[in-house]
Amino acid sequence: MRGASYDVVVAGGSISGLLCAREIAAGGHSVLVVEEDYEIGTPEHCGGLVSSRGLEELGMMPFGGTLVHRVEMARITSPDGAHVAVDAKRQNVLCVNRRELDKQAAHQAQRAGADIMIRTSLQERTREGVRISGAGGGGADANTINCRIMVDARGAAALAQRDRDGIIPSAQYEVYADWIEDGMVEVLPDRLKYPGFFAWVIPSGRGRGRVGAAGRGISAAAALESFLADRGGGGRGCYTVRKIFAPIWIKGPIKRFHDAGSGTITVGDAAGQAKPTTAGGIFSSGMGGVLAGRAISEHLGEGSGGAHDVGVIGDSYRAAWHKRFGAEFEKQSIARRILERADNGAINDVIRRVSPEALREISAEDDFDFHVSGIIKLLGAAGTARAAGSMLGAELRRLIPGR
Ligand SMILES: Cc1cc2nc3c(=O)[nH]c(=O)nc-3n(C[C@H](O)[C@H](O)[C@H](O)COP(=O)(O)OP(=O)(O)OC[C@H]3O[C@@H](n4cnc5c(N)ncnc54)[C@H](O)[C@@H]3O)c2cc1C
Repeated sequence: MRGASYDVVVAGGSISGLLCAREIAAGGHSVLVVEEDYEIGTPEHCGGLVSSRGLEELGMMPFGGTLVHRVEMARITSPDGAHVAVDAKRQNVLCVNRRELDKQAAHQAQRAGADIMIRTSLQERTREGVRISGAGGGGADANTINCRIMVDARGAAALAQRDRDGIIPSAQYEVYADWIEDGMVEVLPDRLKYPGFFAWVIPSGRGRGRVGAAGRGISAAAALESFLADRGGGGRGCYTVRKIFAPIWIKGPIKRFHDAGSGTITVGDAAGQAKPTTAGGIFSSGMGGVLAGRAISEHLGEGSGGAHDVGVIGDSYRAAWHKRFGAEFEKQSIARRILERADNGAINDVIRRVSPEALREISAEDDFDFHVSGIIKLLGAAGTARAAGSMLGAELRRLIPGR
């Protein structure tokens, strides 16, 4: 292994890193992905909700093993127990098996010519390349691999040192329970229990699902245990078979997607490309990998240098990502600020006042990936959100011009 050389080394073998590697390899360049875990897609730290259109754009149509369940309805329940339900059939939202999806991405990358090393960890970027350790790095001794460009696809945890304020702890359990309804996603905002976020239920079929909670400054595990206890706990046919705890990033994209000094391009959750509202990132973070991979591939194809041209690559990929997601993510950040400030009275008020027409419109027109228009309809429709409106006037006016 010592002395190996690649055009690009990607740190992180999940959706954004693997799709980035696929695009680079497809352009005929040598690329190595290093993944610190022992298996691609494991541990699975995801609810697996993604639109079928998003998957198509990623070049990843789900097959038997990937597709778990189809979402038909989404129910939002206020802290006082009122709820609204949106018909989600038209949006074609799927619950996928993230383990399988990531393996499918790895297969695509390898077929295009990428090398993948598992149980191999990036230690540091050096002037000539990267230092790695683990199975691919010669056991305990860190090893060096030469490369022109490094891609940082290490996920949201990589942002934790950068800005703790953007990180929220989350817990998600895989649960069998008789109250999990097939096809029904649940979203449960509550300022006191889950400040700045919510609890969720994502069905994966036959009374099984992924149940989670996240919130600023809370113990996500304690909040989730308490949610499950409220639903009947383990006493009434509720069994937890898997627990995961992971940070989520809710502050939107970081300013620069590259560091010219070190010759590094950042993609996916590590670049803050998950939705500011829900932290969902299979599509938007995955597209970060795809767009970065294409920009790297094109640039290397022109035969110009590597690391010193990283600024050009970073700027062109950033422009492409912002063209696709920038305006929506800006609005989602405003919607997030509203959610963070709304007290339970305001949330109750919004849910109680949503009109059947607004719900019909959201069901007919809303888009899972670009959902701010649906949030605007919830907040702004026919005199809703009076309490929220007086408290959050300035933010609402930015989101709903003319209000
Ligand atoms: C509880 C939870 C539920 C979620 N539910 C959904 C959902 O329903 N729908 C949705 O779209 N999104 C969801 N997300 C978000 C989604 O999981 C992420 O947006 C997506 O996985 C980001 O992909 P990524 O490749 O950028 O990073 P990640 O998937 O975080 O992958 C980073 C990879 O880098 C590896 N790594 C880290 N450090 C190193 C190192 N030093 N060397 C080598 N490898 C390293 C890690 O092992 C990991 O495999 C959820 C997230 C959480 C936490």
